Amino acid sequence: MIVILTEKPSVARDIARHVGAGQKHEGYFEGNGYQVTWAFGHLIALKEPEDYDPILKKWSLHTLPLLPEKFELKLLDDKGVKKQFGIIKKLLVYANEIICATDAGREGELIFRYILSMSQVKKPWKRLWLSSLTDDAMKKAFQNIKNGSEYDRLYAAAKCRNESDWIVGLNATRNYTVRYGKGHMLWSIGRVQTPVLAIVVNRDDEIRHFISQPFWELFTKYRNVNFKFKGDRFNTKDLAEGALNQVKGFPFIIDKVSAKKEQEHPPLLFDLTELQREMNRKFGMTAADTLQIAQTLYEQKFITYPRTDCRYLTSDMKPQIAKTLVQLQPLKGKEIEPLDLSQLPFTNRIVNDKKVTDHHAIIPTGKLPQALPLGSQRLYDAITTRLIAAFYPPCIKEITTIEGHANQTPFQAKGVRILSPGWTLLYPKKGNETQENEMVEEVQVLPLFEKGETGPHDPFITEGKTKPPAHFNENTLLGAMETAGKMIEDESLKDALKNKGIGTPATRASIIETLIKRKYIERRGKQLLANDLGRYLVAIVQDRNLKSPELTGEWELKLKQIEKGEYDACLFMNEIRQFAQQLIHESDIFKINSDIYGHCPQCKSLVIKGNKGYGCSKWKEGCKFVLWKQYKNIELTEAQIQTLLQKNILLQPMNGNILILSRQGTLQEIPVPSEERNYSSRRKK
Ligand SMILES: [Zn+2]
Repeated sequence: MIVILTEKPSVARDIARHVGAGQKHEGYFEGNGYQVTWAFGHLIALKEPEDYDPILKKWSLHTLPLLPEKFELKLLDDKGVKKQFGIIKKLLVYANEIICATDAGREGELIFRYILSMSQVKKPWKRLWLSSLTDDAMKKAFQNIKNGSEYDRLYAAAKCRNESDWIVGLNATRNYTVRYGKGHMLWSIGRVQTPVLAIVVNRDDEIRHFISQPFWELFTKYRNVNFKFKGDRFNTKDLAEGALNQVKGFPFIIDKVSAKKEQEHPPLLFDLTELQREMNRKFGMTAADTLQIAQTLYEQKFITYPRTDCRYLTSDMKPQIAKTLVQLQPLKGKEIEPLDLSQLPFTNRIVNDKKVTDHHAIIPTGKLPQALPLGSQRLYDAITTRLIAAFYPPCIKEITTIEGHANQTPFQAKGVRILSPGWTLLYPKKGNETQENEMVEEVQVLPLFEKGETGPHDPFITEGKTKPPAHFNENTLLGAMETAGKMIEDESLKDALKNKGIGTPATRASIIETLIKRKYIERRGKQLLANDLGRYLVAIVQDRNLKSPELTGEWELKLKQIEKGEYDACLFMNEIRQFAQQLIHESDIFKINSDIYGHCPQCKSLVIKGNKGYGCSKWKEGCKFVLWKQYKNIELTEAQIQTLLQKNILLQPMNGNILILSRQGTLQEIPVPSEERNYSSRRKK
């Protein structure tokens, strides 16, 4: 008997139908020489500390770091799980041949390998790698079935991911909870979760500390077109008015009229993160909802495998794509009509064999849905439109620049004219779409100007204010997680992280949800804002690496390298163990150096004592940092000043709140989250 194991019951049903296993038994299908059984996602987890030794149930600093020599597995404590595992195990033990058909990715591999390991079955097995659940795709996958051992490196990466999350999460959580939990609060820290929280907290702080500056700009109106002064903005109204008076009364003369054509190519196909960002931008859908809907559409065979981070197709898919577009005609006839399906223009923006590894971009399968719920309909529509648009010509624009001057003061105006809309025809702008993050240039339609023409004009100034950066929403946070780009200075690391970022496409949505569930961040409308609880957590986590995207991104890259056989799994785990050891050790040895007050947060010079406060010793050179003795209505002691300068954080100087010294040298007070609130948030889980 050939036993096939899938990740979920619904997929088992499809595969059973495909192989002709028509009889339903408890926990599996059988027929035609096959038994098809299923898991319910993860059935097995790593053991908890107390499973190794009951004494470890008590959280104590003495037992940290906890670093099991060899990780052991246990079944999830659930009646249904235990029963299903019993069925799977029996089938595997008696199988002549085993086929793994769990989801084609890191987590799917882990689910199967853990089941195999706990069943103590040591037989060779085969791996079915499905990119889509249609009959065609299944047939192809069965023809290309591989030996299981070819996926050993994927398993190594999956195991490293799981064990390193255990080590970092468990040790950091216990460490900070024991030190700062005051006996009743749980501080949950995760290898991936905490850097994401820090990104949100830092942005909120940046906004809170932002000081808006007024500025003035000079314009002139000539033949009903606004021309803008080509120089910088003015910092004072006087300067702006001075410039205005320079041009008043002088004629305006056109110096140069130039036009150039620009091409805008259709967007690349979707990977999961891009799909989540688009659905959030257009419809305010959460990343978690988008993933869940995409997974359902995949299981209903309407779209290909969604948990992908690839935006390209392989060249052998070309005939299939043409066929898919034919199948889509009843739904999208009008959009497909202009395309020549016998000669589709496959550019290297669509097909790129080198950039496709495990999975290709998300595309429709060609199986047409009937009536879908609204969210599913929107998602399906976005995916099909994106595929069709990929074959449309670029949008061609003509950008006209008119330059002129009045009394030697240069001005310029720009206009844009669409010469050929190309793919943008498929994306008519709707009023309710938000435009954030899109480069929307202020454009005007220009009349014809001629070089040398001149005439009267009407100069004027406008007043504006600098604006703080925007709060994160799911779209922009996913973008920040994907590149971690803005927060990383090392260029080579930035490039390596471009597609790897923090977390994986499959996990990013759940990271956001976890932070919301733990009340570290909250949704307010579309925005994601840090709560006091989250700000407090980021403040107490002293290990900068625990909250930096750099280290997390580096680990993610190494996991990818382990998958490709370019990095050693043991080496990786040793680094993680060392990190945990260091984390605990450094929290232990951090002592205040009583010989100095500390170092200036702005320039790192020594701090000296003055009459009313403690200031930077480089004050003569212009460093303005001072920490006043008086904070609100209390006077900070010398020891408290030292703590603030050396640890950047002071717990409970007066009313239980904490004080944080920011890197800009400002003091910030964060209320201690109340016991009550935290208790209720834990109970809700
Ligand atoms: Zn200084």
